[in-house]
Amino acid sequence: MKEILQDLSREELIALTESLGEKKFRAEQIYLGLMQGKKISELPVSSALREALLRRFEDEPVKILETFVSAADGTKKFLFALADGNLVEGVLMRYEYGNTQCVSTQVGCRMGCKFCASTLNGLVRNLTAGEILSQILVVNRAEGGSLKKRAVTNAVLMGSGEPFDNYDNVVKFLRNLTREGGICMSARNISLSTCGLVPEMKRFAAEGIPLNLTVSLHAVADEERRRTMPVSNRYRIAEILEACAHYFRRTGRRYIFEYSLIAGENCDEEHALALAALLKGKPCHVNLIRLNEVKERSLRTVTEKDAYRFLGVLEKNGISATLRRSMGGDIGGACGQLRASYLEKNAAATDRAEEIRS
Ligand code: SAH
Repeated sequence: MKEILQDLSREELIALTESLGEKKFRAEQIYLGLMQGKKISELPVSSALREALLRRFEDEPVKILETFVSAADGTKKFLFALADGNLVEGVLMRYEYGNTQCVSTQVGCRMGCKFCASTLNGLVRNLTAGEILSQILVVNRAEGGSLKKRAVTNAVLMGSGEPFDNYDNVVKFLRNLTREGGICMSARNISLSTCGLVPEMKRFAAEGIPLNLTVSLHAVADEERRRTMPVSNRYRIAEILEACAHYFRRTGRRYIFEYSLIAGENCDEEHALALAALLKGKPCHVNLIRLNEVKERSLRTVTEKDAYRFLGVLEKNGISATLRRSMGGDIGGACGQLRASYLEKNAAATDRAEEIRS
């Protein structure tokens, strides 16, 4: 794979164009073109400069391979192809306050959570900063957005991958996403979800990017959490809570816990009471979601009634919480499912082709 031009910050782009013997304003033109989601071959610069760039950089680091639209709520799912043929997925959800895109930070994942489809085949590789950013740039363009009137106004790092397992690239991506003059998304409109990598959570608090820190909790006790989240063998819930408190002290931002309700695992009344006791008085919010069943996994979801009962117990005990509606359920379910089913479909097609050949 060649290098990714979208990895470069504006300053790095200026240095690059100067090294190619071009004037500074060319860097500005390139930067604006890229931020509009253009390919290098479409940039409004001389063909000599385009060719010089194309020798070293990928023309289209992220391409929309397929788009699925939910008839139910207008949610769109995108299957993206990277320049080396790897696939990641993204989702665009429409809310009253704007359009939120869910982006992936890694191809696959090595965290091994038992309910998640992204981690089924382990980690393939990290995405570069520019590959993460490009997911937003190409969707903004495909949806008719511009830099002035963006079609993507919010971002959540909740696609495949563990953002803090790809720390440097993710931080670089966030700086480029929030920088003036580009797509310029406010940190307040960005949520980063982590399974709870404590050292990186603490380190991130000092980066000066006051986004919404979201932690996947999914259990109230360490021994229960270990059953579904292997990362719990490294960090205890108490350490995670301390890292969250640190984040709040540094940024003034309240933090969010994700809690997926799994039948027979974490959703009895006693769990709700224990969760309320654990979080009482903390500047946090709880997002409940009914487990999205993944066909390769045996874990089952809860009824809507049980989910509301769980929510009720939290609220009665003074915890700020919401039950998230699951969006786009008719177009391929949870994290990693789209890529997994595409890989499976294509593997089946390859098998068939091989059968026919032999
Ligand atoms: N690695 C990050 C981002 C992952 S995906 C993290 O762990 O937070 C975003 C959220 O979806 C996480 O809270 C994750 O635990 C949750 N999730 C993954 N698979 C799910 C499923 N099948 N049903 C419900 N939530 C799921």
